[in-house]
Amino acid sequence: MKIGIIGGGQLARMLALAGYPLGLEFVILEPAEDACSAHLGEHFCAPYDDRQALEALAQKVDVVTYEFENVPASSVEFLQQQIPVYPPPKALACARDRLNEKTLFRELGIETAEFAEVDSYESLCQAVERIGRPSLLKTRTLGYDGKGQQMIWEETDLEAVWCNLNGVPAILEALVPFDREVSIIAAKRVSGEMVFYPVAKNIHEEGILRVSVSLADDPVQTLAEAYARKVLDALDYVGVLAIEFFQLGDRLLANEMAPRVHNSGHWSIEGSVCSQFENHMRAISDQPLGSTENIGYPAMINLIGTIPERSSVLAIPGVHLHLYGKSPRPGRKVGHITVCGKTEADRTGLQGKVTNVL
Ligand code: AMP
Repeated sequence: MKIGIIGGGQLARMLALAGYPLGLEFVILEPAEDACSAHLGEHFCAPYDDRQALEALAQKVDVVTYEFENVPASSVEFLQQQIPVYPPPKALACARDRLNEKTLFRELGIETAEFAEVDSYESLCQAVERIGRPSLLKTRTLGYDGKGQQMIWEETDLEAVWCNLNGVPAILEALVPFDREVSIIAAKRVSGEMVFYPVAKNIHEEGILRVSVSLADDPVQTLAEAYARKVLDALDYVGVLAIEFFQLGDRLLANEMAPRVHNSGHWSIEGSVCSQFENHMRAISDQPLGSTENIGYPAMINLIGTIPERSSVLAIPGVHLHLYGKSPRPGRKVGHITVCGKTEADRTGLQGKVTNVL
């Protein structure tokens, strides 16, 4: 079976690495010649909306998936007329726009922060009036890792905020005083089977995920699974889905979803019986899904901006290094490290040893 992947970054790379042992082959549509997954399959080096390349892709592969939300809708529609595209385009349309996403969560009875649509200076003022300060203005689309966000404090001048936005559609969100951030990764196969990974506790700095710790048997697991199941059902979903939440007491407020494998599930490569990458491959090729049980006590530490000395990382027993083949630059995710502790204390110790060599 041949799988087409739109996007050639580290997620495509890890998907292909998980798919080869299952006998899958890959065609990767990616405009950058030196993309870090380009050599992991046949590389169609063309823009994501290049009709000829899309046509050739549809001829060559059995199913198409993608590694990021901002695949042009017209490309997905074009492909979908010819071959299956998973996760389904309606999941993509929903996840790429914060307003659609939060509206869906609310319709499904999933709690979110208070939010309001902002499309003019007047609507910004009304939204701030209703939601209050501090609050956070986010662009509806194309924002990730904290990009496209402006904080609104007591003293913030709304005219300046509106000016910075440049007329881009946005939403205003109440700032949630969360206890912690957690996420759940779920997978649904073409024929309906679903699995859920243990929730992960996520630590962000400057809007970028730094550390993700898998929590087996956490009290919020049942609620996170129930919410994920609602989204999988509502979107006739196929593939891996991630939902990020703010936890407040025993409540979970959904922040966003990703219709793809997710950074907060990278620990599953060595820390689960079957990784999120393999389960995405199994799900879209309609194979039985693998166990999401943890192996020991896994956690993941992102490598951002710099690549550590390889030998000092590899000298730590129980630690796995993943470099993405990307050149380092500030704020860029260039790899990650997984630790698999034998106990919770062992995991904490390993995390400390890793931090010391970064
Ligand atoms: P996002 O781009 O929505 O994933 O936001 C990146 C990070 O900013 C989140 O993981 C949180 O740490 C923080 N953040 C975003 N939205 C809110 C909010 N409404 N309340 C509190 N923190 C937030």
